[in-house]
Amino acid sequence: LVARMRPFGTTIFTEMSALAARTGAVNLGQGFPDTDGPEEMLAAAAEALAGGANQYPPLAGIPVLRSAIAAHEQRFWGLTRDPDGEVAVTAGATEAVAAAILALCEPGDEVVCFEPYYDSYAASIALAGAVRRPVTLRPGPARRFEFDPDELRKAFGPRTRLVLLNSPHNPTGKVFIPAELKLIADLCREHDVFAVTDEVYEHLVFPDAAAPHVPLATLPGMLERTLRISSAGKTFSCTGWKIGWATGPARLVSAILRVKQFLTFVNGAPLQPAVAVALNLPDSYFTGFTAGLRDRRDRLVDGLTDAGLAVLPSEGTYFVTADIRPLGGEDGIEFCRALPGRSGVVAVPTQVFYDHQEAGRHLIRFAFCKRPEVIDEAVRRLKG
Ligand code: PMP
Ligand code: GLN
Repeated sequence: LVARMRPFGTTIFTEMSALAARTGAVNLGQGFPDTDGPEEMLAAAAEALAGGANQYPPLAGIPVLRSAIAAHEQRFWGLTRDPDGEVAVTAGATEAVAAAILALCEPGDEVVCFEPYYDSYAASIALAGAVRRPVTLRPGPARRFEFDPDELRKAFGPRTRLVLLNSPHNPTGKVFIPAELKLIADLCREHDVFAVTDEVYEHLVFPDAAAPHVPLATLPGMLERTLRISSAGKTFSCTGWKIGWATGPARLVSAILRVKQFLTFVNGAPLQPAVAVALNLPDSYFTGFTAGLRDRRDRLVDGLTDAGLAVLPSEGTYFVTADIRPLGGEDGIEFCRALPGRSGVVAVPTQVFYDHQEAGRHLIRFAFCKRPEVIDEAVRRLKG
């Protein structure tokens, strides 16, 4: 194995899901729903599969899906995209992030990101030979995760190539607020760098969040320098389908496609028309989806609090963060490895998503994208 990949072992999601399977624990670790997405989407996939949509689709994705992606961005975020040139379909958001970094970063270029970060970011940056410059998110006075503006300013320098922003944010459940987005945008313009935004949780912001979701691309001067990434996995409860996309100015989208040609070339032929159907569902699907997750968040937050954990606010995503210190825990990795034996529940230690692990040592992440009875069973066990 090459030196640049040696620091990366088995992902925490694989480790923790295997632990859940081995011990029979309730798995609130890896973030995947335990119910299927919209019936119209599933029926469209079955129809496409039986109807012969089984050969290579076009590199950028089938036209009907690219049009649906563009229409969805217009409907929800007021962004106008040409489906022919400004939209690329990818093998999940994961491939879009990897392809963006590989397409834009020379070896030694720096990527500003926020820690804790989604685990594939560090690996994709390393594969490109680039260098990550993480800015730490820490619970502030209102217990929301915040960053120090000066730390962000100092993370930018002559080698900065791009900012990689994930909002709504996994694993913290933070939604970046307008003042934070404005500073990020100001710094991008000042240093003339690109932004790559991972918005896979764009429809998962709860009404009590400090602010609604705002794509960074909609801020002044950002459209021409931002690649916006999302995926069907979260919004339509089909994480195994791996249909994602990137939208942005044609020159950035074509850079992604240059790389994608040789990573996967194309993916998911019969799933692409089905995702188009899902993206075109009426607003009521999206609001119903958010409301359903919000109920489950509340259910889990109440349960974890009753079980004695100090729960931090979750404004969005599938996830909530808890502090283990009230239960006498100090190290999240030790705590999560022992939790299945002790309580029959699996969670994920937040510290594995940091370079500066100390900042998240006492934090663990629970997923609430599960059926209410599964959440209740986990809570019963934790209280037991
Ligand atoms: N980014 C974030 C922040 C995620 O949480 C996930 C999946 N959990 C991904 C990217 C990957 O998305 P996909 O499965 O579409 O590759
Ligand atoms: N994104 C999911 C999570 O954060 C897991 C994805 C994966 O297993 N790679 O739990």
